Amino acid sequence: MRYAVISDVHSNLEAFQAVLDDASSAAIDEYLYVGDVVGYAADPKACVEMLGSLRPKAAVAGNHDWAIAGLLDLEWFNESAKEALVWTKGLLDDAEVDYLKRFQIVYEGGDITLVHSTLENPKRFDYVYNAGEMRRTTDLMKTTVCFVGHTHVAGIFSFDGEKVERIRENRVKIDQARRYVINVGSVGQPRDGDPRASYAIYDAATGTVEMRRVEYDIAAAQRKIIHAGLPPRFAVRLSGGY
Ligand code: ZN
Repeated sequence: MRYAVISDVHSNLEAFQAVLDDASSAAIDEYLYVGDVVGYAADPKACVEMLGSLRPKAAVAGNHDWAIAGLLDLEWFNESAKEALVWTKGLLDDAEVDYLKRFQIVYEGGDITLVHSTLENPKRFDYVYNAGEMRRTTDLMKTTVCFVGHTHVAGIFSFDGEKVERIRENRVKIDQARRYVINVGSVGQPRDGDPRASYAIYDAATGTVEMRRVEYDIAAAQRKIIHAGLPPRFAVRLSGGY
């Protein structure tokens, strides 16, 4: 079974479509979703619909999904993010909002866990960037692999029972004696300096995880953000990947 693990689409249809095209060329059987299909960019409806049509095997909520679902206060967000959320909520119909409401906060199944931020307090949506802080999740994991998103910074972290280390390679063979926190990065708004859409492929049969980056039509996504009257910063940052 080969899974595409996607997170932080953030209403960027061009990036989402490019990732799905790449995934279809990579013999993907199932999708796993790690949160934040909406927020920031101009195509929330189309992105929610596309996610639904993938029928992900498991789906966990991001903070933007929860805000739209009415499960997280808008005060949690900065002004421009809030502005995009209010705009997004105005476009989605009840069925689409209901769909976002149904995501789990943590998924544990087989040998994998999905959570948008951390296992320590998944409803608080803390931002965890460095290896040391990953212990907040590795200590609580019941599975070998945990996929996360939220920071929009892709990275593989490995825990040997004593310390967590960031792995530099973009492919890892899972060692069952270890635990792994894998941030799959962001499909629609990467913030790790690489503007290409980010996702991961997990091959359960070979026990490997591969991080993928995919080029997409950034200018088209930017034009739509500007045209929709959303904060221009959300367009500008896409070309720099920050
Ligand atoms: Zn996000």
